[in-house]
Amino acid sequence: MSLLEIRDLSIEFPSGENTVKAVSDVSFDVREGEVFGIIGESGSGKSVIGLALLRLLPANATVSGTAFFQGQDLFSLKPSELRKIRGKRISLMPQNPAGALNPVLKNGLQMEEVFEGNGKEKKEGMKKALKLMKQLFLKDPERLCGLYPHQLSGGMRQRLIACMSLSFEPELLIADEPTKGLDPEAKTGAIELFTKIKKEYGKTMLLITHDLDLALEVCDRIAVMYAGEIVELDKASKVLSTPLHPYTKGLVRAQPRNGLVPMSGQSPSRISLPDGCFFHERCRYSGIECSRKHPEMKNHKGGGVRCHFQSLQ
Ligand code: SF4
Ligand code: MG
Repeated sequence: MSLLEIRDLSIEFPSGENTVKAVSDVSFDVREGEVFGIIGESGSGKSVIGLALLRLLPANATVSGTAFFQGQDLFSLKPSELRKIRGKRISLMPQNPAGALNPVLKNGLQMEEVFEGNGKEKKEGMKKALKLMKQLFLKDPERLCGLYPHQLSGGMRQRLIACMSLSFEPELLIADEPTKGLDPEAKTGAIELFTKIKKEYGKTMLLITHDLDLALEVCDRIAVMYAGEIVELDKASKVLSTPLHPYTKGLVRAQPRNGLVPMSGQSPSRISLPDGCFFHERCRYSGIECSRKHPEMKNHKGGGVRCHFQSLQ
């Protein structure tokens, strides 16, 4: 069963006289209990989707399409209805844990602030959060609560944010680039953390990442985004071992374990997207049709790929 159904999501921002197409016609489902990954290079439109779902985009963004969460379209909820969902039933782990914490407040106090209501509710919330901290590899949580965020390592700050995000037992956890900026040791720790959240809490997650190691380890299915649209969607193990779309092939080849072969060229400007396939200027398989006709997403053995020549190997 799907917990979240996104259909024809498009997001645009004004830029001077122009319009930036951040996301174009994106559709996917997140099934209950699965970890669904959105992968792609920086600027491919991944994070914008997470922010749009919680209606956290700047007011000048134009969002169209639908995002049904348990039968309610997140884009047409009244502010009072949205407040009941945001942070409680859907939680967002932001991209930059340091920026998400208030530097002048001790860790314990900022955790307490997450819990609304009277003293009793805060106390119970904190009890749950401290238990979670221990479970999520944070030793001696009481001591950590007495420290300031800058006294924690990047990995520890991330775990603290994970505890805050999970304290309300959200039905859906959205994590934006959880390994970005972490050193290799903290990155391994983050992979362990998300594996644990998946296995022990059975959390449904939308994991936004450029990190293919994390995606392979934690995600059940993934969507690959390029220039604001999905170009391939299937089981993570399948996409990352036998990619079909030429862009996904390039991403996989650029991984250290596959020889770090860089992909040539750059993504197109989102103010004036090219005719035809958005990837055609970088694609070594490109044919005449590719610069003329925009490829549709085609079903391929239970998944999907957006390429005129989907059987390319
Ligand atoms: Fe390459 Fe053409 Fe496929 Fe686009 S449609 S990915 S240009 S082969
Ligand atoms: Mg991002």
